[in-house]
Amino acid sequence: MNMSDVNPVNPIQWFPGHMAKTRRIIAENLSQVDIVFELLDARAVISSRNPEIKRLTAGKPVLTLLNKSDLADSAVNKKWLEYFKSAGEYALLVDCKNFSGINNIYPEVKKILSEKLERYKNKGMSGRRLRAMILGIPNVGKSSLLNKLCGASKAKVEDRPGVTLRKQWVSANIGLDLLDMPGVLWPKFESEQVGLNLAFIGSIKDDILDSHENAAKLCGVLRRKYPEQLSARYKLADLPEDCGDYDIFERIARSRGFIISGGEIDDERCAKTILTEFRAAKIGRVSLEVPGDMGYAEENLY
Ligand code: GDP
Repeated sequence: MNMSDVNPVNPIQWFPGHMAKTRRIIAENLSQVDIVFELLDARAVISSRNPEIKRLTAGKPVLTLLNKSDLADSAVNKKWLEYFKSAGEYALLVDCKNFSGINNIYPEVKKILSEKLERYKNKGMSGRRLRAMILGIPNVGKSSLLNKLCGASKAKVEDRPGVTLRKQWVSANIGLDLLDMPGVLWPKFESEQVGLNLAFIGSIKDDILDSHENAAKLCGVLRRKYPEQLSARYKLADLPEDCGDYDIFERIARSRGFIISGGEIDDERCAKTILTEFRAAKIGRVSLEVPGDMGYAEENLY
């Protein structure tokens, strides 16, 4: 399937169950949480943001966590923090794999909720634990964050049977309680670039998209944004200036020996290798998006 076949205004065709379920989880629990953790992928900040997040969270404070920051370009990571700050939003860089930045979450929550905490203190309720829920599109690291924050035991602090959806709050080791069920948001498909970036980071399943076409396009993106890293990884010295995306893909296939009988390129194997290596940062730390370069998608976040 080609990205141009994806209906940009109808994500329900891809995530029919998710949308209804997530809306229900959010609606049933929003009034009980003090803050929402919106998880994004630091490599594709704009594309991994659900366009309805503001509406879905209905005025609740939102702390945006740019996860997988270990895989993204550290200079670009800093630019994203500045971007959110200048937009008056709260954001932190985190990395669930190496537990980096996780300890900054609770102090930031206390800062964001300082007025509310002051009111609790004045009412003699300063011991009240804060509650949060995690939201994010597939594969951004919601379960990893929940597991990192709550540990293997996932101590149950409340379980109220008799309600449609069993509500379970788990105690996070950073000092607050989390809804033990992250909301799986649907991604947006408003442009080919957004769709491709989501495919590159693995938030859209490879099997619904044409992986070899995508991998070739990723080669083109890397060539433009991180040419030295691409050349170093795949030993592509002296790439001609006018080399097309598929040309680069083919050169990689040949240099890796991904050839089938008759000297043909093993497209599938090559695509899988490139996408897997990109996702594991074997090509190096890469940010697909920098503030200001996402045009329409960035201007129409909500
Ligand atoms: P979910 O679909 O949002 O719940 O995502 P998961 O928690 O299942 O994570 C998806 C994949 O990303 C898993 O392979 C995780 O190990 C990996 N992952 C999650 N967070 C990080 C991170 O901060 N850095 C890296 N390198 N990998 C991560």
